[in-house]
Amino acid sequence: MAAPLRNDIRNIGIISHIDAGKTTVSERILFYAGETHKMGEVNEGEAVMDWMPQEQERGITITATSTTCRWGRFWINLIDTPGHIDFTIEVERSMRVLDGAVAILSAVEGVQPQTESVWRQADRYHVPRVCFINKMDRVGADYRAVLAGMEARLKARSVLLQLPLGNEAEFSGVIDLLAEEVLTFSAADQGKTVERRPIPPEYLDEVRIARNKLVEAAADFDDGILSDYLAGERVDAERLREAVRKGTTSCRLFPVLFGAALRNKGIQPLLDAVGSYLPSPLEIPPANGKGPGAEELKTLHCDPEAPLVALAFKVLAEEGRKLTYLRIYSGTLRNGAALLNSSRGVMEKPARMFRMHAHKREQVMAAAAGDIIAVTGLKYALTGDTLCDPDHPLILDGLVVPEPVVTLA
Ligand code: GDP
Repeated sequence: MAAPLRNDIRNIGIISHIDAGKTTVSERILFYAGETHKMGEVNEGEAVMDWMPQEQERGITITATSTTCRWGRFWINLIDTPGHIDFTIEVERSMRVLDGAVAILSAVEGVQPQTESVWRQADRYHVPRVCFINKMDRVGADYRAVLAGMEARLKARSVLLQLPLGNEAEFSGVIDLLAEEVLTFSAADQGKTVERRPIPPEYLDEVRIARNKLVEAAADFDDGILSDYLAGERVDAERLREAVRKGTTSCRLFPVLFGAALRNKGIQPLLDAVGSYLPSPLEIPPANGKGPGAEELKTLHCDPEAPLVALAFKVLAEEGRKLTYLRIYSGTLRNGAALLNSSRGVMEKPARMFRMHAHKREQVMAAAAGDIIAVTGLKYALTGDTLCDPDHPLILDGLVVPEPVVTLA
């Protein structure tokens, strides 16, 4: 299969308080994105569609450390971030490999203690976020209270990209404020068909007010928007999108979308938003590293031609074999190439490289800067180790360098 262009990669996590719907949203993302994937080629991935009747299917998708799915031109690496409060260190660790995140909030419970803690961690690592207010179908859903909580407790400047169409049992879809149209999700085919239609007259005033707020927020990131607005001109969707994207990638603005994952509502626009507003690996500040004995930090550009530098961010034992997940910050990792584990001072050799999908692993021969890949055959690597080109030894900065546990034979 084709390799992703760096511009089209989105390395994202889903962060939330427990019970807000992280699992349900993740499953739906894989379901809808898997469909898109299947249209292009035949694969065996039927089982992921069985999520509704079969609880046991859950394990497949949610225990995966990083699952790649396709959405239009985008390659989304969905990285599992442990949500439980006890795993805070692990959350911090995984934050490092995220270029962006979807923050899920329950429309009923709003900002909860773990929402706050993961939000702060995301702040600390400058992870851009889009927010998904889930469970809009539940009794007591009150999105205005959620927005107030975001402002008061998260100190986050939110901006609505949508308005919910109906509330609680009447929640039937969303109003897209950029395109100014209603999106509903067919009940007949598990929400796969997105229907677009004009905004009902009774919503027009509310939409006008909300869109003006969106224009005002966007104007902070594009000077031209304000003058157009003041001149009474309509600011087009593409221009708004670009400005909101700037605000989002710089962590100064947090776009908000609505849905009810359990009712198959709102996931496709969320996937669109991941592509539109969250940054590619080219748009995030580059990682840094230090050579042995060097004082100065070296900037690691997301360049496939540069010397290889990768981070082992998760090591799993699988059927007696080690599977190591790598985030490649610079260079290209090629199958069979010798690597230096610079954190431990040992040479390593990956046996095979895989792109992990929900139901299959696809063997690849190379993976380039910006991507996430799983490899077998690394004997010594532990979570947090740097792997690099032996001719350009370097350790990624900002990581706790562990004591070497093995010496070079
Ligand atoms: P997690 O703990 O964040 O992974 O949350 P889950 O995805 O396991 O969801 C927690 C509970 O909320 C489960 O019982 C879900 O079925 C339910 N749930 C998730 N999304 C929705 C939704 O959109 N509407 C309603 N009514 N329930 C939901």
